[in-house]
Amino acid sequence: MSYVKGLKCKECGHRTAISPVHVCEACFGPYEVEYDYAAMAGKVTRESIARGPKSLWRYKDLLPVDKPVTGFHSGFTPLKKADRLATELGVKQLYIKDDSCNYPTYSYKERVVAVAISKAVEFGFKTVGCASTGNLANSTAAHAAQAGLKCYVMIPHDLEQGKVLGSLIFGPQMVRIRGNYDDVNRLCTEIADKYGWAIVNVNLRPYYTEGAKTYGFEIAEQYGWQLPQHTVVPTAGGTILPKIYKAYQELITLGLVEDNKPKVYSAQAAGCNPVVKAIQKGVDIIEPQKPNTIAKSIAIGNPADGYYAYQCVTKSGGYGESATDREIIDAIKLLAKTEGIWTEPAGGTTLAATIKLLQSGRIPKDESVVISITGNGLKTQEVVADELPYPRVIDAKMTEFDELLEETRRAQSEPEPALVGA
Ligand SMILES: *Cc1c(COP(=O)(O)O)cnc(C)c1O
Ligand SMILES: [Zn+2]
Repeated sequence: MSYVKGLKCKECGHRTAISPVHVCEACFGPYEVEYDYAAMAGKVTRESIARGPKSLWRYKDLLPVDKPVTGFHSGFTPLKKADRLATELGVKQLYIKDDSCNYPTYSYKERVVAVAISKAVEFGFKTVGCASTGNLANSTAAHAAQAGLKCYVMIPHDLEQGKVLGSLIFGPQMVRIRGNYDDVNRLCTEIADKYGWAIVNVNLRPYYTEGAKTYGFEIAEQYGWQLPQHTVVPTAGGTILPKIYKAYQELITLGLVEDNKPKVYSAQAAGCNPVVKAIQKGVDIIEPQKPNTIAKSIAIGNPADGYYAYQCVTKSGGYGESATDREIIDAIKLLAKTEGIWTEPAGGTTLAATIKLLQSGRIPKDESVVISITGNGLKTQEVVADELPYPRVIDAKMTEFDELLEETRRAQSEPEPALVGA
């Protein structure tokens, strides 16, 4: 049973049938999937969802896919109560939605890719591709390999080695392009038109973006079928933020959660913050930027859905904050030390922005807060390599160990360790 009605233009409301199109033929606005919520009443329930698999497909009724082909182990990542970090920040109820452990390529992108690849197969495509800042390439390549599709991944030339190898291992055709993500994306739009491939985040964008809702559905379900008052979300192309908000609104519409007027906040790097700038100015014009930040996975200077990210943040009563490269690195280290989660700069950005939102009082410290961690630090080792000096080598002798222990104890001014039996 599918509840999908078709595609509907977000701008002019023009409707069209489900097909691999993304731009409205009437006004060039973006198409979005439209559902029959009335038909879901009494059928899509907390119980029906709980009976589903422990993957993003447990929300299949709210996704535009008839037959999933990948992603059977993607999604349903932990919502972790972050008590040690909460104490550090002086917050009462703090949670981490942790997609750094999402399967199989360790980022939130599995959600959008599983939906897009399944849809590509339904449409009969044999070749898929993407324009990517790294994580999307990893995920598209892995899911394409699983589905037996030919795959082209298009990336900026200067990505981290972990992101490059993290795609190449799955055997796609990789195209490294001189320029930034916005140059890559422009070329990809032309490629999709000329060769008729399924570029997941271009011509399959209406389906791709729907996958991001599962991040929001999971937060609600894992929080005991309620919504956190504040959700802080990184913003790159502007897919995930509006879709988390849409997920919350859909659950409210279906009566599965109470409407507590949840607020969403955008986090960006100071070196690429077109959406946050617009939010802070209160002007709904996203001025394109030339990115310059270590947070490469969210370095999109001209975000496709930046306008919608702006709209959701302001409509919800949230705000936006950006973080410098220094603040991003410090936040990566803080999250690792307090919660045992190693995230990449996108996650560092989100935590750093949250800290600033708490300090400025935009987010009250006694209300519930979810921080969206969307990627894994193992892929971006270069950003912390110089931050973590290698320990010196000792011989395998007790005297050398004692000496080393004494050295580190003094350096960290810790008390003398107790001896066993003393
Ligand atoms: C892609 C990505 C995002 C967000 O991108 P949107 O295009 O705004 O959805 C956030 N974090 C990481 C790690 C990503 O790879
Ligand atoms: Zn339109």
